[in-house]
Amino acid sequence: MDIEIKKLRGQLQGRIILPNDSEYKASKTIYNAMIDKKPALFVKCKNKHDVAKAIHFAKDNGLEVSVKAGGHNGAGLALVENGLVIDLSEMKSIKINPDERTAIVEPGNTLADVDKATHEHGLAVPVGVNGNTGISGLTLGGGLGFLTRKAGLTIDHLKAAEVVLASGDIVMANENSNPDLYWALRGGGGNFGVVVSFTYSLIAIKNVYAGPMFWPIEKAKDLMRFYDRYTKDASNDLYGFFAFLNVPDTEPFPEHLRKKNVCAIIWCYTGAKEKIEEVFEPIRQFGPPILDFVSDIAIPALNSMFDWLYPPGLQWYWKGHYLNELTDVCIDENINYGSNLPTPRSTMHLYPVDGKAHEVGQQETAWAHRDIRWVQAIIGVSDDPNKADLIRNWSKAYYDAVIPYSSGGGYVNFTMQDDEARVKESYGVNFERLRSLKKKYDPENFFRLNQNIKPAD
Ligand SMILES: Cc1cc2nc3c(=O)[nH]c(=O)nc-3n(C[C@H](O)[C@H](O)[C@H](O)COP(=O)(O)OP(=O)(O)OC[C@H]3O[C@@H](n4cnc5c(N)ncnc54)[C@H](O)[C@@H]3O)c2cc1C
Repeated sequence: MDIEIKKLRGQLQGRIILPNDSEYKASKTIYNAMIDKKPALFVKCKNKHDVAKAIHFAKDNGLEVSVKAGGHNGAGLALVENGLVIDLSEMKSIKINPDERTAIVEPGNTLADVDKATHEHGLAVPVGVNGNTGISGLTLGGGLGFLTRKAGLTIDHLKAAEVVLASGDIVMANENSNPDLYWALRGGGGNFGVVVSFTYSLIAIKNVYAGPMFWPIEKAKDLMRFYDRYTKDASNDLYGFFAFLNVPDTEPFPEHLRKKNVCAIIWCYTGAKEKIEEVFEPIRQFGPPILDFVSDIAIPALNSMFDWLYPPGLQWYWKGHYLNELTDVCIDENINYGSNLPTPRSTMHLYPVDGKAHEVGQQETAWAHRDIRWVQAIIGVSDDPNKADLIRNWSKAYYDAVIPYSSGGGYVNFTMQDDEARVKESYGVNFERLRSLKKKYDPENFFRLNQNIKPAD
């Protein structure tokens, strides 16, 4: 293969990284330190033509491929053992058109990169809650975050994508051009090709009233009931994700709260300033929070508020599912596990998926579950590799305890590789159409290192 690699090197604008190169170790280091795979080579692409060449090369040499953008996927799908990694991390251009309110974003950008560029114009794409996540994988799986109730999922703002298909052809996908592919990309993950540019519509939003409030763990049952009731009837301007967590043992948290197991809501209010008091008074009245960090904050700062707590290089094991109702038994099971977090950074989040996200029909995009209220994420995290089993076992046991109350399926971006059996359920009514489109656009299942949709028979 040496001669072929030399030939490919001569054709690329980007670079090839091999196991003996000094950059190899850094290239194969992804966000979740639990994953250790040894690819045969990385093609660090500079443009769409590099991507097409990497695809042809992999096919000609019988190599399995993976696609790496932000490298954040918990299951480590960005890497392939002994195969070729199509590495998009250096494709980082962002072009904003403030008049049309659009952004054309290359796939190597993080959420923080996109936030920074759009914020300069007083605009934003609704994205996720950690700035160091890749925009690419997040978008293709759906995209949940603080603006979901106000503005919908990230995919609801995806206007077009340029895609390199498994054939190596480069096509546009939007309402007029390959509309079926455009439909599939909005939730269908990395199954249909390599997206080399995303065009988003932007919303005008700059600052919000947001941040965490903590309550004693003993209040968890009442808080969950209150949270359920209060957010159900709230306007789309109020978003709050519920969490169990341990208070970090550091500034700016008051010493008497540090390391305490608490329940929390991380709020984001996008409505009129004059209404803040009216909206937040019942929350503060419910039972005075033991910590209240809610204040005016710029969107990029909000979306990277927890980055320091979750730097790259930790052990991660996620489980997740969709949830519609917080019944009393479901609440009890949650409290059982949420008040026994296995490590300081382990946590559980309930991310709302209602409000504006419900205004899109189940079959309008590939993301089928438009009727659920929350995505539940059970997140085992540790800085100690010796605790890998501990966090895995806790996440699995927690998940097994709450799954009877699930509304079925789960968010593909919060699953590990051992969850692949649930792909069908996760796509629900859209699964068969996705399989047909997989057959049309990737009949050989060339792109299979993802939450994989197998081509129709
Ligand atoms: C700390 C943390 C916080 C998170 N918070 C949120 C959140 O708030 N909201 C949310 O919705 N999700 C969140 N996620 C989940 C996140 O959306 C997924 O992990 C997503 O896969 C990350 O995208 P990436 O580009 O970094 O992934 P990578 O690991 O680079 O890629 C993952 C997979 O996505 C596919 N892919 C990526 N880019 C392309 C492309 N250009 N073309 C084709 N396929 C591609 C490939 O199949 C690839 O294997 C979070 C994850 C972490 C670890």
